[in-house]
Amino acid sequence: MTPEPCARIGIDIGGTSTEALMLNDRGSIEAEVQLDTEPGIEAVLDTVERAVAILSERSGRSLSDFVSLGIGIPGQVDHERGIVRHAYNIGVDELALASAVQGRIGIPVSLDNDVTAAAIGAAQLMQLDGSVAYLNLGTGIAAGFVIDGQPMRGAHGVTGEIGHLAIDPRGRACPCGQRGCLETVASGSALRSFWRADANGRLLMSELAAGDPGAEDAFEALVTGAATAVRLLVLTLDPHTVVIGGGLRMLGAPLLDGIRDTLDAWAAASPFLANLNMSARILPLPANSPAAAVGAALSYRG
Ligand SMILES: [Zn+2]
Repeated sequence: MTPEPCARIGIDIGGTSTEALMLNDRGSIEAEVQLDTEPGIEAVLDTVERAVAILSERSGRSLSDFVSLGIGIPGQVDHERGIVRHAYNIGVDELALASAVQGRIGIPVSLDNDVTAAAIGAAQLMQLDGSVAYLNLGTGIAAGFVIDGQPMRGAHGVTGEIGHLAIDPRGRACPCGQRGCLETVASGSALRSFWRADANGRLLMSELAAGDPGAEDAFEALVTGAATAVRLLVLTLDPHTVVIGGGLRMLGAPLLDGIRDTLDAWAAASPFLANLNMSARILPLPANSPAAAVGAALSYRG
């Protein structure tokens, strides 16, 4: 008798790289691969197909062993119909990605926004119960939510797009057409646009250590913006946990301590905020946790 297929594939398509992994029936990662993301529809489909072939080879499993393939992708995602829109940083305006991949590979495919997928994966990897808000501090700033194990996707796939909350009407112009969006002060793209074009976390830390005033201003804006996002998430969802993830998490303790100190300073001035215990709810996503790929693998419900 042929055993029931039980392995799940999860793929996180990011702006620069695509991370793919295979979970076995116990939920453990059995094979992984990382590939460069090439922009454009055909390139994205080719990369997904190549990742699946490599996972199949590395795990010694055939395609019929895979029960599902989940994809996390930046952009506005219609989970029910498997369509992604406005994934501009990978050169995709609109694509019925789930059916296109399913047509090529023959496995049921589900599609999620990458930050929603990361929220699902973080809740699983960190064994978090109750309500979880996942704050992604990466190229952009956005959030994903999981409540009692169920992801929250919203009516139009824009749940958690808090980066485009305009917090300063006289602030910087945002590519979205508004002014003073959170993303224009607290994101990797803000660091590159308004501090240094070659900015990354490592450079920011070394310039901070060297006492560069521009780096100090950029870091202060990042910390305040991230703390503003945490306050927004706490006031909106009242989550048990706020997980901090994304590429800027590599800033480590200075970033986490800065966010907690900012929240504590606000709480010290407001009995209302003090009562919310905001800083105590924060947990960093552990280093090297492939949260979005794991979450994508788990998001398929057949
Ligand atoms: Zn904006």
